[in-house]
Amino acid sequence: MTEASFQTVAYMLAALLFILALAGLSQQKTAKRGNFLGIAGMAIALVATIGVALLHADALLVSAGLMACAIVLGGAFGVYKARHVQMTEMPQLVALLHCFVGAAAVLVGFNSFLMEPGGYFDGQMNIYHLGEVGLAIFIGGVTFTGSIVANLKLSAKISGKPLTLPGRNLLNLAMIIGYIALIVPFGMSTGVEGGLPYLIAITVISLVLGAHLVLAIGGGDMPVVVSMLNSYSGWAAAMAGFTLGNDLLIVTGALVGSSGAYLSYIMCQGMNRSFTSVILGGFGDTPSKGSGEAHDYGEHTETTAEEVAQMLKDAKTVMITPGYGMAVAQAQFPVADLTRKLISEGVDVKFGIHPVAGRMPGHMNVLLAEAKVPYEAVYEMDEVNDDFEDVDVVLVIGANDTVNPAAETEPDSPIAGMPVLRVWNAGKVIVFKRSMGNAGYAGVQNPLFFNENTDMLLGDAKDSVDKIIAAL
Ligand code: NDP
Repeated sequence: MTEASFQTVAYMLAALLFILALAGLSQQKTAKRGNFLGIAGMAIALVATIGVALLHADALLVSAGLMACAIVLGGAFGVYKARHVQMTEMPQLVALLHCFVGAAAVLVGFNSFLMEPGGYFDGQMNIYHLGEVGLAIFIGGVTFTGSIVANLKLSAKISGKPLTLPGRNLLNLAMIIGYIALIVPFGMSTGVEGGLPYLIAITVISLVLGAHLVLAIGGGDMPVVVSMLNSYSGWAAAMAGFTLGNDLLIVTGALVGSSGAYLSYIMCQGMNRSFTSVILGGFGDTPSKGSGEAHDYGEHTETTAEEVAQMLKDAKTVMITPGYGMAVAQAQFPVADLTRKLISEGVDVKFGIHPVAGRMPGHMNVLLAEAKVPYEAVYEMDEVNDDFEDVDVVLVIGANDTVNPAAETEPDSPIAGMPVLRVWNAGKVIVFKRSMGNAGYAGVQNPLFFNENTDMLLGDAKDSVDKIIAAL
């Protein structure tokens, strides 16, 4: 087998493994296998790329040494970060990782331009090549600064408030027009001197645009933006693939780009937001549909862990709807213990998962899988939303917006229209929450807490579940 065909076969195998990995990751049951397939694909891709690059290296030892340094440094940073990150800090870590992809696309673009500005291609081919380079750098630059700003906002190192400059949409439009006006003469240019000023101007515009797009978005809306940046980083990688003539990078980048865009779309649907305004960076600016003014819902009633334990003993069917508070309290382990205990006593226990419960897609599924909750007990919102009438007790563990009936009943509510879990249709609802003072992510009051069939179990969710288990 020639060296080129070895690389082609390896790349095809790796691309196939990446596609199978994505398919595996789409279901909790197969997610672990999906992860391994992805790792295997990446290992094959690395061996094929590095092996062939080394075969062509002028100074083999120096090249191998440099690559080893890069891999060891990058790998050590990745392992360190992955081991130390808290589940609630995941979105900002992901944002940080995207900024590396953006930076890589910019550097690859510059490298490709400076090393062979028109040298490898003639005439029309050169225009295409420079067009690719300019686009890779543009998308990479937007991803780079956008991800850095997202990381800083999510880790509260800068204010999460949206920066609303006057005429900011016009400003964005002007930058995009500026980019188009520069890429044309850049494509026609010859030699480093001819093209470099255009390329530098394109880079500056992309860096400013990326930062401005994300600065304009409210801190709370950042997770959707992170998923959008994930998509941008994929397209940046695909563009870098065109620049390098690397088919695998094109396929992988396109997979990341399209799956990231689709994920953002699903999240927007789950939150009843406009997909277009997120892409255009106008998300945080979306005016709320109404004032969300305070309503008087009456008095709430409180309960104790012992009473809840008794209720659960008497119940035939129990539905658990976890939310962000379960992640904050790290209550998934006692929740899993409670589930096992109830199942062993013949109670039918199910989990109803809202698509945007928590602070990132699949947040609750990851926590429940971590605590080894049986997959068969975990259902999507749509699968269980009509079943609540047949449920004896619902345990709302640290969820708020995702179980807020105001989304269906109050057209003036900021969350009006957002699909929610209809827990209030159950016989009894127990809400786990630390205090009555704090609202959920959307900052609105939840009338569920004041319903006759709802009791509040106030306190840290982990402590409360521990107490229920003890009482059982
Ligand atoms: P919310 O963020 O609406 O509410 C969290 C609830 O948990 C609050 O009632 C809070 O009350 C309670 N809580 C917090 N800490 C604890 C604790 N230690 N013990 C007990 N309770 C606790 O959660 P949801 O999951 O219902 O909703 C998610 C929200 O996030 C939605 O509005 C969604 O649109 C948004 N979002 C989701 C994204 C995703 O991808 N999943 C992305 C972006 C936004 P208290 O403080 O009183 O304890």
